[in-house]
Amino acid sequence: MTKLLIATNNIHKIDEYQEILADLPFTITYPANEGLLLDPEETGTTFEENAIIKAKAFAEASGLLTLADDSGLEVDALRGEPGVYSARYGNSAKDDHAGRCQMVLQKLAALNVPWAERTARFRCVIALATKEKLLGTVEGRVEGFINYEPKGSGGFGYDPIFFFPEFNQTLAEVSSTQKHSVSHRGKAGRAVTALLESSSLGLTQDG
Ligand code: IMP
Repeated sequence: MTKLLIATNNIHKIDEYQEILADLPFTITYPANEGLLLDPEETGTTFEENAIIKAKAFAEASGLLTLADDSGLEVDALRGEPGVYSARYGNSAKDDHAGRCQMVLQKLAALNVPWAERTARFRCVIALATKEKLLGTVEGRVEGFINYEPKGSGGFGYDPIFFFPEFNQTLAEVSSTQKHSVSHRGKAGRAVTALLESSSLGLTQDG
């Protein structure tokens, strides 16, 4: 089966794509598995620009069909922060997701934002590329509210503070299957199937 490189060093994203793309006729692989030591600078100002930067860099370095995801949380009362800077928000260490959640909660508390205005969304843009060209981009979004406190231990990143009304729980309180059924990454991942179908790659490869 043809390999599909998930162009990220984020283990959580890799885990999620293994599940979301399980039905595609590709062998999912990731940078560490291919001996790729690459951390392209995300110089874009939009999710789309950064996804394209990562997809092209990893496709060129590996020669493989490559999927890159740039994603993040947009909080309306914080004018869209942390946005494209979600992974680097504040001064906390790279893996300090709890610290970043607290920063969002503290900023909203300082502004005294009422529940109805604690609206937020996760966005995920996927760029798909080969060594030769960019095949296209797709986007998925999920709308919710910033909870008053972190809840749950599943998921990653800002999931403990992202309350999803239809579940009446945060995305860290539900199973990964439930999360993917509504999440930005689940939606974008499912749209990739259509992108592959419309590209010359098709979905019936075995080479
Ligand atoms: P990227 O690796 O530059 O795309 O940054 C993604 C960052 O956005 C992650 O490190 C998280 O902080 C946040 N993020 C993206 N997707 C999710 C998600 O599904 N749950 C929680 N946080 C997420």
